[in-house]
Amino acid sequence: LFVVFEGGEGAGKSTQLAALADRLRGQGRDVVVTREPGATGIGQRIRSLVLETSDEEAPSPRAEALLYAADRAHHIATVVRPALVRGAVVISDRYVDSSLAYQGAGRTLPVQEVSWLSSWATGGLKPDLVVLLDVDPHTGRSRVDSRNQGADRLEAESLGFHERVRYAFLDLAAADPKRYLVLDASRPAEEIAAAVARRVEEFLVD
Ligand code: C5P
Repeated sequence: LFVVFEGGEGAGKSTQLAALADRLRGQGRDVVVTREPGATGIGQRIRSLVLETSDEEAPSPRAEALLYAADRAHHIATVVRPALVRGAVVISDRYVDSSLAYQGAGRTLPVQEVSWLSSWATGGLKPDLVVLLDVDPHTGRSRVDSRNQGADRLEAESLGFHERVRYAFLDLAAADPKRYLVLDASRPAEEIAAAVARRVEEFLVD
């Protein structure tokens, strides 16, 4: 089972991902928690290339899309596929939709092209479920600011950028509703965790 969490900054992905992983591990399941970008050694280096460079040295939009695709190709080949093959539940913080939203809608690259690139990078691997934690960029931004994690380059993008990203995620969910669980990230964390658990357990009934 391959579950992906998506959402803008400050949506609470890490909290929810950890809650789901704890719950499934408590049931004795083999769970692999992972993320994009940066789950592998190569991925870490790509993450810092993309996110920790100054504005002057930031990659151009197409270069950025290729770097994320390279991170993803390596991540899927070396972490996600092997875990799925042995029957683990894989929970990833971000996947293809982040590229469609950030590199596509955010950086205004043609979304269809970004989608082809991702599909080539992953050999077409799709998640069974995408949990979209929908957050208004103002709220997300203030949550991130209050944690004082303003170092990432993308966090400095305009609110307009983050609005495009938000609506791109919502459009992707609307186009394939069976694969998505869209939750309002401003709801209490325990309620969100319970809704995620209910949906995930539908996949796990033997
Ligand atoms: O949420 P996380 O810390 O994993 O994301 C790091 C940053 O990378 C975020 O600011 C997000 O906006 C950006 N990102 C991106 N394109 C992706 C994945 C992440 O711009 N495909």
